[in-house]
Amino acid sequence: MNKRLLPPLAYAYDALEPYIDAQTMELHHTKHHQTYIDKLNAVLEKYPEIADEPVEELLAELDTLKVEETDRLAIRNHGGGHANHLLFWEIMGPNKVIDQKLVNDINAKFGSTEEFKKQFTDLATKLFGSGWVWLARNRGDGLELYTTANQDSPWLKGHTPLIGLDVWEHAHYLKYQNRRAEYIENWWQVLKLI
Ligand code: MN
Repeated sequence: MNKRLLPPLAYAYDALEPYIDAQTMELHHTKHHQTYIDKLNAVLEKYPEIADEPVEELLAELDTLKVEETDRLAIRNHGGGHANHLLFWEIMGPNKVIDQKLVNDINAKFGSTEEFKKQFTDLATKLFGSGWVWLARNRGDGLELYTTANQDSPWLKGHTPLIGLDVWEHAHYLKYQNRRAEYIENWWQVLKLI
C-alpha cells in the first residue's frame, strides 16, 4: 500500500493574510490535516485491498466496505477530514479564479450570488459545535446547501462537494477567538471561485 501524503498548498501560508493568518494556515495544514492522513493510513494498513482507493470513493462506498465497524467510523472521520481539507485548500487562494459555470448554477438555484452567500453564511453562523457548511452537487446534478457535523463529507451520500467552509474552532480560533461571524465574513475574501 502507498501511504497517503500531505499535498503541499499551491500558495504560501501567509498568502491569505489578513483574512486568514499564516500561523493558523500552517498549523491547520501541517498538524490538523496531517493527523487525519496519519490516522487514515493507520486504519487502511489493515485493508490492503482498499488502501489505494481514492478517499472520495472510500467515503461514497463507506456503508458497503468490508471493514470492522470501529474502522468504518475511523474512515468516516479521518477519511472525511482528509477529503474535506483537500477541497478547502483548493478552493481558497490569494487570487480570484472565478468558476463561471458554478456562478451560473448558483444564480439559477439561489437567484444571485449575494443570496447564496447570505444563506451559506447564515448556516455557518448558526452551526452548533464542529462541522462544515457545504454547497454540493447531488446525484441528480442539482445544487444543495447544508451543514455536516464533525468531518462528515458530502461524499458519504454520493454528493460532490463544490464549496466547503471549515467551521471547527481550529480553523479560526488563533485570530478570531469566539468571533466566528467575523471569520466567516472574511473567508469570502479568500474563496477564489465566486
Ligand atoms: Mn480543519
